This record gives sequence, C-alpha cells and structure tokens, in this order.
Amino acid sequence: MIVVMKKEASTETVSMVAQKVDSLGLRSNVIVGEERTVVAAIGDERNGFQETLASLPGVEKVVPILAPYKVASREAKPEPTVLKALRLTLGGGHVGVIAGPCSVESEEQIMTAAREVKQAGATGLRGGAFKPRTSPYAFQGLKEEGLKLLAAAREETGLAVVTEVMTPSDVPLVAEYADVLQIGARNMQNYQLLQAVGETDRMILLKRGMSATMDEFLLAAEYILDAGNQQVALCERGVRTFESHTRFTLPLASVPYLHERTHLPVVIDPSHGTGKASLVPSMCAAAIAAGADGLIVEVHPQPSEAMSDGAQSLDPQTFRETMKLCQRVADAMQVELG
Ligand code: PEP
Ligand code: MN
Repeated sequence: MIVVMKKEASTETVSMVAQKVDSLGLRSNVIVGEERTVVAAIGDERNGFQETLASLPGVEKVVPILAPYKVASREAKPEPTVLKALRLTLGGGHVGVIAGPCSVESEEQIMTAAREVKQAGATGLRGGAFKPRTSPYAFQGLKEEGLKLLAAAREETGLAVVTEVMTPSDVPLVAEYADVLQIGARNMQNYQLLQAVGETDRMILLKRGMSATMDEFLLAAEYILDAGNQQVALCERGVRTFESHTRFTLPLASVPYLHERTHLPVVIDPSHGTGKASLVPSMCAAAIAAGADGLIVEVHPQPSEAMSDGAQSLDPQTFRETMKLCQRVADAMQVELG
C-alpha cells in the first residue's frame, strides 16, 4: 500500500512513518515527488495495518496498490519521473535522443558516429561493448576496450554514454565508463543483474523482453527500484509475433499504456523494433506522436560494413533527415527534442 504524506510533512515525520512501516514487518520505500512524498509499504497487505498507518502524524491517506508492481506504479507517484544524464533528458516534455552504432567496432567508427549524431541533435551515444549475440560465432564486442572508446567519445562530444551490461560481475566495470546502463531484452528477467544495477547510481535503460508481458516488464523495473535505484527508463523494442516481414513487431500503444500504469519514462527503439532501416524514420516520428519520452536509434557511419545490425542502422545523412522529421512532430506535440 501507499502512505500518502501531507504536503507539509517534514523529512523527520516521513522517516518516522517509514520506521513504523518497517516495524510492522513491511518494507518501506520513500518516494519523493515534486508535489508530495509517499511511503510505499511493501509486504502482505492483508494484515489490517492500513488504519494504524492512516492515524500516524503527517499522513494524509493510505491507499492500497492493486497492481503487482508497487514503486513503479502511477498510484505510488502520480507525476511523471524525469531522468537526466549529462544533457540527455527523458520525460517532463523532453524527448531524449540516443543514437549510435549497435556495437563499438573501432576508434574511428565510434568517433565518427558520435560526431555525426551529436551534430544531428542527439544527446546520448549508444554503442555495445558487451554484445548479446544469438550465435556464439558472431562478433561479441570489444568489451573493456569498447568502453574506453565510448568514454573517449563522451570526452570529445559531451554525449551521455549508453551501453549494455550483461552480467552482474561486469556491473562495476561498465558503470565506471557509462552514464546509462542498458539491460538488454534477453536479460530483462535476469533478476540478479537487475538487482546489481539497482545498487548503482547510474540511470538504467531497461529493454522489454521480446516475449514479456507488460506486467512482467514492470515487475522487472520494480526489481531495480526495489534495490534502491529510482532512475529507470523503460524501453519498448518490439516483441516476437507470427509476423515475419519485420524483425520484431513494434507496439507503439505501449507508450500510452505504460504512461497510464507507471510514472517511469518510456523510450522507443524503432531499430530493433522493425529490423529495417527504411521503416525507422516513420517509427521515430510516430513514437513522438504517441508521447514517447525518448528514442534510441542505431546509426552507423557505413551500415553495409557494420559488424552487427547493419540492416536496421541508419546512415548519418538519413539520421539527420529523421531528426528534421522528428522536430516537426515534436513542435506539434510541444515537446523538446534532443
Ligand atoms: C541492442 O540495443 O543492440 C540490443 C542488443 O538490443 P535488444 O536487447 O533490445 O535486442
Ligand atoms: Mn543492435
């Protein structure tokens, strides 16, 4: 359940309520919002503690949360969460744009990509150093060398580095170089990994598993929130269906649906969502029209030469045009792009 504090409740009053929640055998999680603070009380709600908590000083009301996820729910925090890493902002009227290659391949490749996407208006740089590949024979990424190249690209351009971490033991290393830790679709339900990134102070970009339901997706986010990290962005990257004309099926209805259910920002990945570069510009524009808080787009200096996901990667020129198209939609939606 959620203990909604009165607007004027002091920090001390809030922590007294949190202590009371813990002493009842529930677990408290304080969520500080712009409007007001709430204390999520997680545990068995059948104990009849609702009245006890409602009578504490500084408490306005106690509301049960019906959704299986608690801290992620809109009931817990009605106002949207806005996340920032360097100049990348997701939510609160900002559509953050993260762009770059699928994988970091070489210094020249990542530097060229970083300069190009920055010039076109992106504020985040993507690039995988640890790559989850379907085949064990495919390029697995440059690993730490790739992380160093990403950090060098950030040094020059100021772009926030977004890169995937695949295993709990790599979290400290990747967090040393990255501004945003990406959890890949194949790892959405790797609960130890979710917990490990939940213990960092980095923003997390959690991708939806390709066969995960929305509740499973939100419960995965809940693991990260529950471990203490409130900086979670959800990324819809398409799901597996019977359809074979695209790599995955990209449900843009996820954006308004997730906005109804959670305060966390929602990012769309039209590159993996379609698997086809020609479909990416329209899906970027449509994502903004649907209310997305961010985009993550694969851009490669020479897509035909890419070591992974070339078919869905935009070349720099097409990315520039895509950003212009997106700007027109962003203007119509009265949101800031970049
Ligand atoms: C990626 O972003 O390159 C990637 C592997 O994405 P996903 O986990 O969504 O397949
Ligand atoms: Mn990719």
